[in-house]
Amino acid sequence: METCKNLIGGEWVGASDHASFETRNPACADEVLAVFPSATAADAAQAAAAAAEAFPAWAATPAPARGAVLFKAAELLTERLGKVARTLTREEGKTLAEATGEVVRARDILRYYGGEGWRLGGDLLPANAPHAMLYSRREPLGVVAAITPWNFPIAIPTWKIAPALVYGNAVVFKPASATPLTALRLVECLVDAGLPAGVLNLVTGAGSVTGGALAGDPVVRGLTFTGSRDTGSRIYSRATEHYARVQLEMGGKNPTIVLDDADLELAVKLAVMGGFSLTGQSCTATSRVIVEEGIADRFAAALAEAANALNVGDGLESGVQMGPAVSEEQLETDLDYVRIGREEGAELLAGGGRAGDGGHFLRPTVFDGVDVHSRLAQEEIFGPVIGIVRARDLDDAIFKANAVGYGLAASICTNDLRRAMTFVDRIEAGVVKVNEPTTGLALQAPFGGFKQSSANTFKEQGPAALDFYTRTKTVYITYD
Ligand code: NAD
Repeated sequence: METCKNLIGGEWVGASDHASFETRNPACADEVLAVFPSATAADAAQAAAAAAEAFPAWAATPAPARGAVLFKAAELLTERLGKVARTLTREEGKTLAEATGEVVRARDILRYYGGEGWRLGGDLLPANAPHAMLYSRREPLGVVAAITPWNFPIAIPTWKIAPALVYGNAVVFKPASATPLTALRLVECLVDAGLPAGVLNLVTGAGSVTGGALAGDPVVRGLTFTGSRDTGSRIYSRATEHYARVQLEMGGKNPTIVLDDADLELAVKLAVMGGFSLTGQSCTATSRVIVEEGIADRFAAALAEAANALNVGDGLESGVQMGPAVSEEQLETDLDYVRIGREEGAELLAGGGRAGDGGHFLRPTVFDGVDVHSRLAQEEIFGPVIGIVRARDLDDAIFKANAVGYGLAASICTNDLRRAMTFVDRIEAGVVKVNEPTTGLALQAPFGGFKQSSANTFKEQGPAALDFYTRTKTVYITYD
């Protein structure tokens, strides 16, 4: 068991009231992994103050030099890849292959934003008079707080912290309490890469206390949050009270539409990848498959068979295809939705119960005959549960796909280009895919949801991050 500390102003420290919490392995619930400080509101304020103090010198550091720190951190993460991936699996539960993919993603994000240090610029505009100059330049916001969820414990923090840093901001990072150890490994890479003291601070603790303090702190000028819709709404009101810039990425109820002409094998593969990879614990996970009547019976039978064939277990074991739920609480939520689905009259085709001993395992679960307005079809579960909703035709399928509060990711399986493009035109989702699963993102592309899946302010990732992490200053110069 590791005893860990927070990082404030370059010092590794415990909580000021000495309180702490422990983290456990979801595949082996008796195994305690680490103990972390429960940072108080005062500790969070101290971290924000330390970031504010470090900010001017970091902002004045040339952008290529800031980028060089990210490149070095990417190098260190590459050296530590195997160990970090194992930590991720033991802490969050996803399989080692999935964890390795996530750490590689974090490494690539560091490289991408390291390169941004060479590109950061502004626009030169035509002036209205001779001997005059008109241009705009990008400036950092100041102190940025990053509050992150447990399901991508290194990729999401990296896609927030890396652009924040390269564009010249100082950061306070508050990871989810289920996965702070993986988060700590990222912070260590950045510190070991030469980041000056105070430019990146880490505070761990209860969301409502540590995270709440950051959201309410006027020193924080930018707040980037990924997590559930309810938490996001609370944070938004607190942070906008003092006019902080806020970015929220929240839940999803992502559909894959399967049309009659689809390749059945491909359609099942997309549903399994989208719904059961990462144990369904992905914001872009497929939780509804909306199937046109002509293929529905064959699809439902094939999906149930594929779900039953999946090997569920400890993600460190070879041959395991799906790991546990992150916690007993999440597993209870999943099981609750199995009960709700049954009560609502949906037909359970596969799974629905616990699997294995010692960990929080659920069998991959498939319901058929799910009503589009039922709770099973409307509410985010965040587990390996797929509901099949039947549709008369493409219009009906698109209507049903859009008939939820969320709008994060959506996909369609068809060989008919005209019908695929009709879907692309009419679907209300921030990420739209044809013949691909709803999951899986390219780090160079903007990412963010519509409707209640985001604050509808700023996108994340790729070039879109520049808009959130910088403000634009317009400069008029006359030299006549
Ligand atoms: P959560 O909302 O419970 O917690 C997210 C973070 O907010 C954690 O660090 C938590 O400690 C903190 N927090 C909790 N209460 C707070 C408060 N009152 N003030 C400030 N901070 C607070 O979410 P979770 O359970 O960690 O993650 C799962 C959720 O995240 C799902 O809804 C999922 O869809 C969403 N998610 C969205 C995306 C996306 O990009 N759209 C990606 C991954 C996960």
